[in-house]
Amino acid sequence: MGNEPLQFDVVAFDADDTLWHNEPLFTTTENKFRKLLEPYHSQFWIDKRLYETEIKNLAVFGYGVKGFTLSMIETAIELTEGRIQGNEIQRIINFSKEMLKTPVQLLPDVAEIIPELARQHTLMVITKGDLFEQESKLARSGLADLFKFVEIVSEKNAETYGEILKRHRIAPERFVMIGNSLKSDILPVLSLNAHAIYIHYETTWQHEQVGSEETDGASYHRVDTVSDLPEYLNRLTGSVAG
Ligand SMILES: [Mg+2]
Repeated sequence: MGNEPLQFDVVAFDADDTLWHNEPLFTTTENKFRKLLEPYHSQFWIDKRLYETEIKNLAVFGYGVKGFTLSMIETAIELTEGRIQGNEIQRIINFSKEMLKTPVQLLPDVAEIIPELARQHTLMVITKGDLFEQESKLARSGLADLFKFVEIVSEKNAETYGEILKRHRIAPERFVMIGNSLKSDILPVLSLNAHAIYIHYETTWQHEQVGSEETDGASYHRVDTVSDLPEYLNRLTGSVAG
């Protein structure tokens, strides 16, 4: 990589589990779903089948709470061989309404650090999922005005990042992506010769996990928390005094 100072035209952020908590909402709902189906099957089997249904349905419904809800209903019908009752399906629907109504909970220091970064950099959000859901979360986060650009995409891969860079006329070497998913925020960005900063989050959805064979030798940056970012970016861009 060398130690040449970098220049960033755009500093981009992932949203879920980078700016605000998201995965714990799903984990909590999975617990409720497991309880609902407890009379029918073992926990292990319920989890396994729900995950398989979710992955199978990603191509049909995309990411987000609504697709997840349909996957829970489909799993419930399959695992009960059609014996699930209307009122139980209503409970599943209520789980998802609760998820969508839960206030957006920012990660520690995000409320202070993002405005600080916005004074120095042009900020972008790149998030994948349901348009309505992600727009609503961004609006409720209180951060929307700090991001000059918002990109809500259905998948985060080299192709979608390449398309975003092209549309905004950003040279890859002048772009940095910050996020908690090696699979969605880091590796595809590096493949375009852009820069990436990884921030670990407490839980990673199974689907977002990657093996070490994919990350070995990948030259991404890493900080422990969002609060380390101003100093880290200053160091990368050589704008540290002294
Ligand atoms: Mg994320």
